[in-house]
Amino acid sequence: MLSFRCITLYWIILSTVGFISAPAMAAPSKEPLNVVVTIPVLKDLAEVVGGPHVRVTSLLKGYENEHTYSPKPSDLVAVRKAQVLFEVGLGLEVWVANLVKSAGRSSLTIITTSKGIGLIHDDHEADPNHRDGVKHARGNPHVWMDPENAVTMMRHVTEALSHADPDHAQEFRQNQAAYLRRLDQLRAELTDRLRKLSDRRIVAHHPAWPYFARRFGFEIVATIQAQSASEPSAAQIRQLIETIKRHRVKAVVSEIQLSQRVPELLARETGARVVVLTTLPGGLPRTDTYLDMLRYNVLQLASALETS
Ligand SMILES: [Zn+2]
Repeated sequence: MLSFRCITLYWIILSTVGFISAPAMAAPSKEPLNVVVTIPVLKDLAEVVGGPHVRVTSLLKGYENEHTYSPKPSDLVAVRKAQVLFEVGLGLEVWVANLVKSAGRSSLTIITTSKGIGLIHDDHEADPNHRDGVKHARGNPHVWMDPENAVTMMRHVTEALSHADPDHAQEFRQNQAAYLRRLDQLRAELTDRLRKLSDRRIVAHHPAWPYFARRFGFEIVATIQAQSASEPSAAQIRQLIETIKRHRVKAVVSEIQLSQRVPELLARETGARVVVLTTLPGGLPRTDTYLDMLRYNVLQLASALETS
C-alpha cells in the first residue's frame, strides 16, 4: 500500500513536471481553418497540406456522382462556416455559385484548383443529334486523374491556406514537399509496373479517363457515355459491341459511381471484362486517399489487361 508520504511525493513530482512542461507548450493555438471542398480529392490534398490546422468538409462523398450531384441542406451549413472553398472548376461543379449565394456567403474565397492545367478537349464524334461543345467547352474537367495535375491543384491549396493562415505557411510548404516526394515515388512505381504491359486498349464508361490514360499510356478506344451522365442509345450500344469485338478490347473500365448495366451488357456480348474503378477517393475499399486511389486504379486495370 502506498503511504501518505509516497502519495504526496508523487503528487509533487506530477505537479512539478506539469509546471515545467507547461511553458514549453505552444501558445494556445488558433481554431483550425474551416475548409470546404467539392470532391474528396481536394479533401485529401487540403488535409495533407493543412494537417491539424484545417478542418475539411467534402460536399461529395466518394460514392457520389459528380455530374448528377445536387447540394444537400448540410452543404449550406458547411459553406456558412467555411473560410475557404476549393473547387476543381471547368464547369464540373456548376452548383457551387448558387450554393454559396444561398448560404449568404457571396464574399467567400473560392479557389479554382484547375487553374493553369493544360486541358484535354474531348473530340465528340460528329453526331448530329448532339449539340456538342456545351458540356466540356472549357476542356475535360477530370484533371485530377493525372498525378501531374494533382501537383498543380495542391500548389493552389498550399497557396490559399498559407494566405488564410500565414503563421503556418512554412509548415504547409513542408507538408507539400513531403507529399510531392511520395507522389513521385508512387508514379515511378506504377510506371514500372506498367512497363511490360503490351495491350493497353480500353473502353471507358464516362469521359473521366483521358488524363489518366495519357499519363499512364492507356488507349481509350471508345467511351460508353459520349457526354457525362448521358446514357447511350441502342444504336450506340451496338456500335460499342462492334468496336470492342473488332479491336479485341479486353477491358471495359467502369466506375463504382455509375450503373453497371451497360458495361455488363457489353461484357456479356463481347467477352471483355468489366473493371470497376473509382474516380473519387473513398469510392471503393482501399481507395481512401488520392495515392491509394491512383495505385488501385492502375493495378486493377493492369491485371485485367494481362488476363486473357
Ligand atoms: Zn465525371
